[in-house]
Amino acid sequence: MDPPVFAGGLRIAPEFVRLFFYCADAGSRDSSATPTRQSFCMKTILVFAGTRPEIIKMAPIVRELRARQRSQTARKKTWSAHFCFSGQHYELAVPFLKYFDTKPDSHLNVMESGQSLGQLRSRATAQLDAFFKCRPGACAALVQGDTTTAFVAALSAFDHKVPIGHVEAGLRTSDITEPFPEELNRRLITRIAKWHYAPTERARQVLLTEKVAPESIILTRNTGIDSLLWASNQSYEPALKDLATLDGKRLVLVTAHRRESIGAPLKRIASALVKLAREFRDATFILPVHKNPQVARIIRGDLARTRNILLTEPLEYPDFVWAMKRAELIITDSGGIQEEAASLKKPVLVVRNETERTEAIDYGTSFLVGSDPNRLIIMAKEFLTGQRKLALKSAVSPFGDGAAARRIVDHLLAHILS
Ligand code: UDP
Repeated sequence: MDPPVFAGGLRIAPEFVRLFFYCADAGSRDSSATPTRQSFCMKTILVFAGTRPEIIKMAPIVRELRARQRSQTARKKTWSAHFCFSGQHYELAVPFLKYFDTKPDSHLNVMESGQSLGQLRSRATAQLDAFFKCRPGACAALVQGDTTTAFVAALSAFDHKVPIGHVEAGLRTSDITEPFPEELNRRLITRIAKWHYAPTERARQVLLTEKVAPESIILTRNTGIDSLLWASNQSYEPALKDLATLDGKRLVLVTAHRRESIGAPLKRIASALVKLAREFRDATFILPVHKNPQVARIIRGDLARTRNILLTEPLEYPDFVWAMKRAELIITDSGGIQEEAASLKKPVLVVRNETERTEAIDYGTSFLVGSDPNRLIIMAKEFLTGQRKLALKSAVSPFGDGAAARRIVDHLLAHILS
């Protein structure tokens, strides 16, 4: 079936149509690609998320805001929250939005297949500008992390004189091109944000060295850990039936998708995985394949034929948490997984040249191996043979305690209501 065509010739992918109906079911007030003007008589806190990790890390804030919004008495309703889903990852998003019980109040449609970063920025700028024009009552805009849509949402908020709160502020590598383009995005957001919600003491120190005013930095811990702990308390039924067959078996969990890994680095990582899987035949190497076609081509091309490598679709969050908890070893180029693994006390081989989560290295769960296959094989073997064991610096992970969203919302409400 051809995807529907919206007025103006804009082609909409089927996944977006599913999201459209999901939001419309939710009673969405702005379930069109170009929102219409609305008058907001109350102060409105805007929350933006567009990718899988943003949803995971913003969900606890959206839920906390909505719970407090509901607790306002009918006579004293002074503010409201509005969650806008930008759609940067719309294919992956719906199960995550549902799982975390965070139906968007509105959504944009910033993705178009094959578009360049510049085109994404330009499309997002046009839609976010229109979005802000409709919201004269906006009193704060929360963006998370370092994605292109987080940066564009922050810039649009700045254009419309809406103060910006940056969730997960202060993460840095020493190289502006790694991760690409996220390192640039987060540095730029720091320049225009009013409130910087730093997840760790190290992130706070980074912001101070960049001359960010100390009173605008709030040490909150990481909201991703709020989600991890929340998910750990929910009942679990695997969405991917294959997982049930792996219970009790040796498991190595692998993810690799970063833009800077695509090409030769990813091929080197793949060759190391094949060697490891052949040597450790009693272990299953589970690898959820990222939707990026360039990543999928390399991974499926190089790894599909090894018996104990299980390639899956991207896992839904509860399945992924299940796999992290059972994994003996995690191999990844992801950022958020390094934080989650530290909380779960799992060893992680980080297949990147740099990490902005150096706390996990100091803590003793992350090991930076780059894309050198020999280094990856040596370190993985050490863990899989039991030769190397984790030696943690303390019992408590540096990333979070499950109360980050509460701290952010406390701070935000104190400021906008004062
Ligand atoms: N994740 C997931 N399913 C997967 C792979 C990852 O739910 O198949 C979750 C994971 O638990 C983590 C987040 O997605 O919270 C990491 O996403 P990603 O690696 O895309 O982004 P990054 O953290 O590097 O920004």
